[in-house]
Amino acid sequence: MSTSAVVVGAGIAGLASAVSLARVGWQITVLERAAEAGEIGAGFAMSRNAVAAFRGLGFGDDDVAALGYATWAGGTFDWRGRPILTVPGSPEVRDAVGLIGVHRRRVHAALLGRAVALGVHVVPRSTVTDLDPGVADGAPAVVGGRAADLVVGADGIRSAVRGVVFPRIAPVYSGYSSWRAVVPGVFGGEALTQFWGPHAEYGILPTTPAGGPDETYWYGYVRMPERTRLGGPDGELAAAKARAAGWAAPVQEVLDATDPATLLRHDVHHLPGGAPSYTSGRVVLVGDAAHGTVPTMGQGAATALEDGLCVGLLVGAPVAAGGRLAPALAGFDAARRPRCRGLARASVASGRFGAHLGVGQGLRNALMRLTPTGAVVRGAEAAMGWTPPQAAPPVR
Ligand SMILES: Cc1cc2nc3c(=O)[nH]c(=O)nc-3n(C[C@H](O)[C@H](O)[C@H](O)COP(=O)(O)OP(=O)(O)OC[C@H]3O[C@@H](n4cnc5c(N)ncnc54)[C@H](O)[C@@H]3O)c2cc1C
Repeated sequence: MSTSAVVVGAGIAGLASAVSLARVGWQITVLERAAEAGEIGAGFAMSRNAVAAFRGLGFGDDDVAALGYATWAGGTFDWRGRPILTVPGSPEVRDAVGLIGVHRRRVHAALLGRAVALGVHVVPRSTVTDLDPGVADGAPAVVGGRAADLVVGADGIRSAVRGVVFPRIAPVYSGYSSWRAVVPGVFGGEALTQFWGPHAEYGILPTTPAGGPDETYWYGYVRMPERTRLGGPDGELAAAKARAAGWAAPVQEVLDATDPATLLRHDVHHLPGGAPSYTSGRVVLVGDAAHGTVPTMGQGAATALEDGLCVGLLVGAPVAAGGRLAPALAGFDAARRPRCRGLARASVASGRFGAHLGVGQGLRNALMRLTPTGAVVRGAEAAMGWTPPQAAPPVR
């Protein structure tokens, strides 16, 4: 029997879900609000769990190399550039915090290309406003006027899908806004470097893909009232520079090299606690729609990729093999919710001690300088040591 799913949202979570479901034989339609299923974004640190999920979707070494620059999280510095916690040169430690510095556009294009090649039908300019979630082993779901065996809510932190099934869950402003840009050239070192000052963090990450021109991603994550207007692109860059006045040389250099027209800024919202369940009726929530969090551990896109892969392995595969949907959805929720909740909680805690900290910088920095390397490796393993599960067996 052919099974069909409607995926709402063609971001990283939605496209990963579409690829994973299509790989196990589902018919997939993706409804995307934007005129083009593209990704504006800038860069991000694709941690090794994200790379494991990406590979789990069928991508190989060359595909990974084409996304960006293989490197590691090189450490944290204070705003003047003095080391707080640096990662020593040993290959084991570098592997533990290994990552690929990527441009979002390339990750998105790879997922979209694979989805289309697998026969996924992507419908742009298609905003979902109505949903009947159906009953897991009963009535079909109806979304955007289409009946479906499964609806994947991948429509981001302001998810309309989540709004129907869990109307009381709403995003909260983190108190922080983030500038992001990708600039040509090499700035900072070879690794991801992060600089912490009172209520602010700037980060620099090489994202040059294999055989491509040199490219660097930077972000500034600073405390700011919600919906602050800074007077267009030039005003935005001037404000990003003013906020970083006197900071370490690599921060100044990468800001000076930025074309204001390429600079993005977004207020950062999160869902404290996330959705109470990641499933309801025939709906499964993935990515920011389920667990949007603050970016202080760089795990949002990573868990979006993990979720997408798991929709195929834990829901798509057992149902395609003749199993019932309800136990498959329960298995997805049991596998994903504790992990994503734990990471979201850890991200908030890490923000409190890191970019969100105001007074107490000196004490925090002194404590961090005492952190043994083993603790860095164990912390990285807990967050990024994730590997894809086996496809779940059918429950009839
Ligand atoms: C400053 C910052 C830095 C970050 N850095 C990192 C990092 O280094 N590493 C990392 O792993 N993560 C990082 N993240 C997190 C990451 O960007 C997000 O968690 C991830 O992109 C979420 O993907 P998504 O597909 O769930 O949602 P989105 O990217 O928001 O995609 C949702 C899609 O749904 C569409 N849509 C919305 N509503 C509807 C509707 N009603 N109908 C149809 N379509 C709809 C939207 O147009 C969009 O295409 C960062 C986030 C921020 C803010």
